[in-house]
Amino acid sequence: MTATAWAPPAEKLDRVRSFMRERVLPSEQVLDREDDEADACVAQLRSEVRSLGLWAPHVPPEAGGSGAGFLEYAYLNEEIGRTLWGQLVFGCQAPDAGNAEILHLFGTTDQKERWLFPLVAGEIRSFFSMTEPEVPGSDPTTLRTRAVRDGDDWVIDGHKWFSSGAEGAAFGIVMAVTDPDADPHGRATQIVVPVDTPGVEIVRAIPTMGHRGRNWSTHCEVRYTDVRVPVANTLGEVGSGFLIAQKRLGPGRIHHVMRWLGQMQRAFELMCRYALERQSFGGPLADKQTVQNWIADSYAEIQACRLATLDAAHKIDQGSEARVEVSAIKFYAARVLNDVIDRAIQVHGARGLTDETPLARMAMQARGGRIYDGPDEVHRQVVARRVLKTFVEGDGWRFA
Ligand SMILES: Cc1cc2nc3c(=O)[nH]c(=O)nc-3n(C[C@H](O)[C@H](O)[C@H](O)COP(=O)(O)OP(=O)(O)OC[C@H]3O[C@@H](n4cnc5c(N)ncnc54)[C@H](O)[C@@H]3O)c2cc1C
Repeated sequence: MTATAWAPPAEKLDRVRSFMRERVLPSEQVLDREDDEADACVAQLRSEVRSLGLWAPHVPPEAGGSGAGFLEYAYLNEEIGRTLWGQLVFGCQAPDAGNAEILHLFGTTDQKERWLFPLVAGEIRSFFSMTEPEVPGSDPTTLRTRAVRDGDDWVIDGHKWFSSGAEGAAFGIVMAVTDPDADPHGRATQIVVPVDTPGVEIVRAIPTMGHRGRNWSTHCEVRYTDVRVPVANTLGEVGSGFLIAQKRLGPGRIHHVMRWLGQMQRAFELMCRYALERQSFGGPLADKQTVQNWIADSYAEIQACRLATLDAAHKIDQGSEARVEVSAIKFYAARVLNDVIDRAIQVHGARGLTDETPLARMAMQARGGRIYDGPDEVHRQVVARRVLKTFVEGDGWRFA
């Protein structure tokens, strides 16, 4: 069975689509304000999603969700991703979604009780604290944050930034060096750190592209000074930080791309509608060949992203890590996302820069996609190296 032959979850998809169309998209302008009214709106929409049985579609029922695998989630997320708030409303937002997955895979029974179940239930939020301002995030073997064992505790000291969602979160999963003498990929460990532990300081929410954010939508600088947590907070084995990060980031990248598919299609639709409506030089913009080229290129690129994403999701469901497929779609879809939104803005002229359409906000959010969870350049390097290796060691890369 190939991904393309796999039938979408038609009934569930219909329910998600209707809810997005009737309840979430009409609330977008309220949600965009990111104030108390927006928080109340999120809470209301979340309770409706729960009662529809659609809550947390990224994790299976035993972890508290409604999920049934990656491929199903890809189809649902394409709808959920049409607005930037969709994942928050459905309880599958980053970084909580990735944190839930690794707690589900590697957490102890106690860790699951204390953090996984309340997290998936949407009672608390979390953050993932790996990147540091002083060293390149692309090469996390250079991380400096240290966790030193003292009796039954870890004592953590370090400085992180871009810990997304740290404002208002209950806990973070912190990547810290526990054995600086180990081989580079065995040096670090992931440790669960409750935010109310003495020594944890959320220094600031870092404004990005003019946007400070609020709670879930922040990107925070965080300092850890003599932070003491029990060794029982270790996630998985000591020294397995990179292995777990890989487990988290691989699927996490696909989650982003699934959401971007919704963003791309929304920008595409706005572009087509406006091109048909706006009259200029004696006819609609849709008659101009340049605009037709933008529409045709966008169509082809979105469709390529869509099929490559479904293929990668299908391979992950079959047990493959799909490293080449995931890296390829991460850098390719990030570029397509930015290009399609940019073309849609251009077709709208000055209106495209206003808040009268969602495009400006979409563009602001899209740019980070070429950097977070690994910049384009690193993913291209991964694809090229892995493909070349198949030529060095055998018959070469086989597209399948
Ligand atoms: C919106 C947003 C949210 C984020 N959320 C989180 C989070 O929740 N938790 C967290 O820990 N981190 C988070 N990050 C951080 C993110 O993962 C890092 O920014 C990313 O890994 C890149 O690291 P860096 O910024 O230090 O860039 P660097 O590693 O310093 O790289 C800078 C540039 O160098 C180039 N480059 C790097 N390596 C290569 C190479 N091999 N070949 C060619 N060029 C190269 C690339 O163009 C790259 O953009 C977030 C970032 C953004 C933008």
